[in-house]
Amino acid sequence: MGNLENEKQKKIQEIVSIVKLASLLFSGIVFLRYIFNGSDIAKITPNNSYSFISFFVVILLLFSIYFIWSISTVTKIDIKYINIVSLLENLLFVLFFIIVILYSGKNTSDYKFLFLFIIIATTIQQGMKQGMIIACISSTFILVLDLLMGPANSPVNLYFENDLILSGVFILTAWPLGFYVKIENEHITKLENLANEDGLTGLYNHRFFYDAFDGIMKISEQENNLVSMILLDIDYFKVYNDVNGHQMGDEVLSTIGSILKNSFRKNDIVARYGGEEFAIILPNTSEADAMKLAERLRSKIEKTYFKGEENQPNGKLTVSIGISIYPYKAKNAIELFKSADDALYRAKFFDKNRVESYTSILDELKVDTEDERIDIITSIKTLISVINAKDKYTYGHVERVVIYSRLLADKLELNDKNKKNLIYGAYMHDIGKINIPKEILNKNMPLTQDEWEIMKQHSINGAEIIKHVESLQEIIPLILHHHERYDGTGYPDSLKGENIPYLVRMLTVVDCFDAMTSSRPYNTRKTYKEAIAELRKCRGTQFDKDIVDAFVQVIIESKNGFGER
Ligand code: GH3
Ligand code: MG
Ligand code: MG
Repeated sequence: MGNLENEKQKKIQEIVSIVKLASLLFSGIVFLRYIFNGSDIAKITPNNSYSFISFFVVILLLFSIYFIWSISTVTKIDIKYINIVSLLENLLFVLFFIIVILYSGKNTSDYKFLFLFIIIATTIQQGMKQGMIIACISSTFILVLDLLMGPANSPVNLYFENDLILSGVFILTAWPLGFYVKIENEHITKLENLANEDGLTGLYNHRFFYDAFDGIMKISEQENNLVSMILLDIDYFKVYNDVNGHQMGDEVLSTIGSILKNSFRKNDIVARYGGEEFAIILPNTSEADAMKLAERLRSKIEKTYFKGEENQPNGKLTVSIGISIYPYKAKNAIELFKSADDALYRAKFFDKNRVESYTSILDELKVDTEDERIDIITSIKTLISVINAKDKYTYGHVERVVIYSRLLADKLELNDKNKKNLIYGAYMHDIGKINIPKEILNKNMPLTQDEWEIMKQHSINGAEIIKHVESLQEIIPLILHHHERYDGTGYPDSLKGENIPYLVRMLTVVDCFDAMTSSRPYNTRKTYKEAIAELRKCRGTQFDKDIVDAFVQVIIESKNGFGER
């Protein structure tokens, strides 16, 4: 919209400049005419060719100066000063016309209409108020001139009477024209608002959201300001629609829209950026404040009664919220949105109906890592995003394995160091897949023997990738052996029982559980119950018995929280 507005201003400036140039041209003609006729006011005569040429040159110069000035300044003047500059310019024009009128006969001048040019130009460009000011100044000048120069003894001042009508014309030009410009501008503003608004909720729409986000981020990057981002998604909204119908679903969206609208400041951008997804950009807001606002919002929506919400899986209509902040957790706009989305994903994955802020294990790892290793950590992060992009079936797998590992680590009371190693291992366990062709990763039929051999290479490849990173030495076994089986039939080294490190045995259970419960190319997804049964079935063969027991407990305890996806 900003571009459209600029374009419009530019076009108006062009028209107005042409009107002003035309008025300068007229004034030039007036001067020339008086030079040729020989006026008693003029000190120069047609015979004085030197004066004539110099006068002509002055007019031409004025003309050219204005022409160049108007072209070169349109785009360069700061928007803050444009009104002052335009007003000054218009006053200069008025002054110039005053000189022309004084020169061409004072009260008897035939050129008082010249003021109309500047009145029209000002009104078009700056609206009714400025136009009326110029009209009043012009009228006052010609009327006062008539009074001062009028015949002293005669009761009739013919020029004054005529000029009263002319003043009326001035005012009647500025007023309706100004009114028209005002209506036009209001209309444009209304249309702009409509184009930026989401019809159902009255919030900003997807298009405006991205425009505003871009603008805010550009300023914040220049001025080093904080920007918090809140993403909100309605929980089980598909269920709500299925049970209560789309129309009631729309009412929920509209109610949530109103709650959102009333919960934020005027310069926060609150938008519906997807079907049942909302985004709020909070400029100059710390993460702690954004968390407070988000928590208040979540609780308000939880407490609001929505018709039919008792049929929702958790008995009420709720939302999940993800938060991130620039510049601490994201380096640019894309990362800010992505990290808030990651946080939202985590909020969904846990209980739903909760607020989560973005955390990255690798970013945490960076804090503990010597400076020269930080690049390697960043490379690993990139590697994982490449794998996520390549392997569409395991999207989110790594994130879930990390979450489960954290819970299992707490259940088995690992010390801090082991817990950290398990979590890093969980994060990196699949990095060797970077070398596996996309076709094999996404194949939706059972793999051939050769393809299996390639697939099995990923644990060795992964270990190879981090081999030289000193701070990751303890993670190597987790990557290398996460496909070993307790009974010794796994790969790559057919390790058996207690020979498989404890943390690796933990990771294997978690990794397999998530593989079972998420969609895979050639497997149908198991429910949590079915996956628990499968873990129990393989207790002592594929998996460590005690670890299976502990993990099943973790899942059962959080079952309500996780919900059945
Ligand atoms: P989750 O808790 O994981 O977010 O589950 P969900 O069912 O909310 O998520 P999902 O993305 O699967 O479903 C979103 C649903 O939102 C699908 C669609 O029926 C509904 N929806 C999207 N836009 C509109 C809309 O404009 N009006 C209505 N009534 N429903 C919409
Ligand atoms: Mg959604
Ligand atoms: Mg949803």
